Amino acid sequence: MFPHAGQNPEQTSLQLTPWWHESADRNICVRVAEQTLPAKADVVVVGSGYTGLHAALVCAEAGRETLVVDAGELGFGCSSRNGGQISSSIKPGFEVLKKRHGESVALAIHQEGHRSLQWLGEFIEQAGLDCDFDRCGRFHAAHNASTFNKLSQRLNSEHPLLASGAQLISQAEQQAYIRSDAYFGGAVFPRHASVHPAKYHRELVRLAAEKGVRFMADCRVESVRGEGPFRLLTSRGEVLADKVVMATNGYTSGITPQLQRRVIPIGSYMIATEQIQPELLNGLLPTGKIISDSRKVVYYYRKSPDGQRILFGGRVSGSETDPAVSGPQLQRELVNLLPELEGIGISHSWSGLVAYTFDELPHIGMQQGLHYAMGYCGAGVGMASYLGNKLGKQLVGDPDGETVFSIPAFPSRPGYRGNPWFLPAAVQYYRLRDRLNI
Ligand SMILES: Cc1cc2nc3c(=O)[nH]c(=O)nc-3n(C[C@H](O)[C@H](O)[C@H](O)COP(=O)(O)OP(=O)(O)OC[C@H]3O[C@@H](n4cnc5c(N)ncnc54)[C@H](O)[C@@H]3O)c2cc1C
Repeated sequence: MFPHAGQNPEQTSLQLTPWWHESADRNICVRVAEQTLPAKADVVVVGSGYTGLHAALVCAEAGRETLVVDAGELGFGCSSRNGGQISSSIKPGFEVLKKRHGESVALAIHQEGHRSLQWLGEFIEQAGLDCDFDRCGRFHAAHNASTFNKLSQRLNSEHPLLASGAQLISQAEQQAYIRSDAYFGGAVFPRHASVHPAKYHRELVRLAAEKGVRFMADCRVESVRGEGPFRLLTSRGEVLADKVVMATNGYTSGITPQLQRRVIPIGSYMIATEQIQPELLNGLLPTGKIISDSRKVVYYYRKSPDGQRILFGGRVSGSETDPAVSGPQLQRELVNLLPELEGIGISHSWSGLVAYTFDELPHIGMQQGLHYAMGYCGAGVGMASYLGNKLGKQLVGDPDGETVFSIPAFPSRPGYRGNPWFLPAAVQYYRLRDRLNI
């Protein structure tokens, strides 16, 4: 498994753990974890991120004895270490999907993307989760004139059923959102939201435990045998299950080779700055909106929920690297965008593995009797939650489990077995395109 944390560099005090972990009380994630693996469960969920926890919640509510296991601590994967930015989560544009799947499926995919965003807000509010959820909106910045024009065309030709409510912002107006000359205008997406990802994860663990879900941490599933009932061999012993949910996303491994060959694990990297003087921080980012830019190799950033620092994410190299190395590189990229941050240090640097797919869509379904949802292409806060809920419903036979993401086939490529040897070249290619404004 991908080692999230490298060696702490002796010469600095840079923490190689997510800033989020320090700013959330996550003790419950330790307290609920049992010491002995139960002999059986109706449903075993492999993976304790948003996908697994939402699926588990639905199963437990429907009366199924549900066990969630994770190879690491609960929330070891992306779900406690992401940027906390929530969008409608669909990467391919409507026209691209229309060519691939026809108009009605394309429409349904984008409509469910919008729905996932709205659904998550409703879920958090109805369940009363304490996780700094904020319908703050997003400023999506154009990194060159040509992408600004494309953004403008896209917004002007939105399908009437897919209206995002976005407002185009000219370069002259952008200072109201970001004090930077690095961008060429952009657009405000008013419905996009933010959350404290580790608090949100903790609250899901609390809710699931209250509904009777059981948990095993540090319990790696090493093989899954049978066709239902299933025998799961784990690092902590053996457990029998009537049904199994694979919620492993970017950490999917050879225990499910049929899924491993369909997802491309890619590292995403983040830093937290040291505390910034309020006048400077509020001058640089005058609103509480989350920020992303139009690069294919995207930068995404925001104020921390306590309003004291900037949390900045992106990808700095073709190959996976250690957060001790990526941290200073990301810091330089941040200063390129916001030069007034020169001299402000960083306190934390961390990473996690997201799962890309060959068609840039998430997928949900069943492979060899195992239920799965995965492949959120780096935009899984809303979509993993939403599809985890759908997955749980499918498993307990609730018709509301139906979703358009079951329809497109989950593609692979000949010869691909889960090792993305092509990644460095692909990242360099997209970086070049970003630079050449293609
Ligand atoms: C740095 C970073 C920033 C991001 N920013 C954003 C953002 O701002 N907005 C957004 O929408 N998305 C973002 N994402 C992506 C988002 O976090 C993920 O898409 C989402 O959390 C996926 O949830 P999940 O439950 O499917 O997977 P994960 O949370 O990754 O959980 C998978 C779990 O499976 C476990 N596992 C794997 N194999 C086994 C096994 N054999 N046995 C037991 N357990 C196993 C792993 O230990 C892991 O805990 C970001 C990701 C990263 C890394």
